[in-house]
Amino acid sequence: MAIKAIKGINDILPDVVGKWQLVESVARRIFSNFNFQEIRIPILEKTELFARSIGETTDIVEKEMYTFPDRNGQLLTLRPEATASVVRAFIEHKLHLQPAMRKFYTMGPMFRHERPQKGRYRQFHQINVEVFAMDDPMVDAEVIYMLLVFLEALKIPDIKLHINSMGCPDCRLPFRQSLADYLEGVSDKLCADCKRRRLTNPLRIFDCKVDSCGKLVENAPVLLDHLCHECEKNFQGVRDHLDSLAVAYTIDPFMVRGLDYYTRTTFEAITPHLGAQDAVGGGGRYDGLMKALGGPDLPGTGFAIGMERLILLLDDKAGAATDSHNLFVACLGEEAKKKGFSLVQELRLSGLSVEMDYESKSLKAQMRRADKLDATHVLILGDDELAKGAALLRDMDASTQEEISLKKIVEELLQRFKLEM
Ligand SMILES: [Zn+2]
Ligand SMILES: [Zn+2]
Repeated sequence: MAIKAIKGINDILPDVVGKWQLVESVARRIFSNFNFQEIRIPILEKTELFARSIGETTDIVEKEMYTFPDRNGQLLTLRPEATASVVRAFIEHKLHLQPAMRKFYTMGPMFRHERPQKGRYRQFHQINVEVFAMDDPMVDAEVIYMLLVFLEALKIPDIKLHINSMGCPDCRLPFRQSLADYLEGVSDKLCADCKRRRLTNPLRIFDCKVDSCGKLVENAPVLLDHLCHECEKNFQGVRDHLDSLAVAYTIDPFMVRGLDYYTRTTFEAITPHLGAQDAVGGGGRYDGLMKALGGPDLPGTGFAIGMERLILLLDDKAGAATDSHNLFVACLGEEAKKKGFSLVQELRLSGLSVEMDYESKSLKAQMRRADKLDATHVLILGDDELAKGAALLRDMDASTQEEISLKKIVEELLQRFKLEM
């Protein structure tokens, strides 16, 4: 029996890869306008990096990570998200000593052992943006703005911005207590997971997908009502700066994001076109993370975009090839095929996209293949034409053909396709 790929771990085939390339190139262009630099980080890290950063009692660490001992018995994990690794790299390379390196982005695969469903896979891809050592509310507003500009550039329809504040350790501690008190009163109505969460990490109850828990959560106290003065002022600052950029938003006190490290402003870009899982991108501030991972006490903020879900939202034609100069070289006879083989390489070196057939099929079969490849022109090389030092150039759209000399054929074709040499 043929071997299949692992469930939830997919191939990305050439017929959709144009969309991926489009997303990546728009990200590179826009992020670079905002002065972000690319960083590339490994997909495999020591397990303790994620346990310490994401939180031991989050669903990701408890249930979803791909963790295994390597051949030396060291516990490793395929990264479930990118922020922890970027922070680790920042600390490890002492980048805080290099003021030119504060704003980063990275793209690539992440791994979580979740139930696969449309737009959500076990190997999935994210674009991540991280900013370190800046805690002005303007930075939060800038990062949020860049996310929206990026989605706008890809023409993603009906995006709405939701924001919330997760406070700081100062306001979170008393809040945790009032949440715990509330949950104690309703503990018999909680699902089994939430019964456990109530004691280990009550904030995670806001993530519960069980309906009955969702109803209980509606009446639960929210962090937004318990912010300390500094957090309140900071959140107001972010909102003022969003207003100054004419960014509309909804304050959503129930949005807690799935990771423990968030502090202060968090946000999600939401669309009605993804069903129940409506966020296409989101993130927030994580001011304590760098210190918790053994680095300097520097603040951080950023976001992640789910690429699979973003690609579901793209227009069908987005990323389709726009190169209208595909040339197919059809050869008839052994001599013509030899001549065609070297001519094809020469044309490719000159910048044309060129294909030929090696199977010595009939002209009709070769024309059919040219048509399938969307070739705009076919150059026909037959032994008769070769003897005359010429070839036939067929315009596929106009259904016309003319004889052209082989002597200056590269220059001739480039000129017709208006390419610079
Ligand atoms: Zn606070
Ligand atoms: Zn629950």
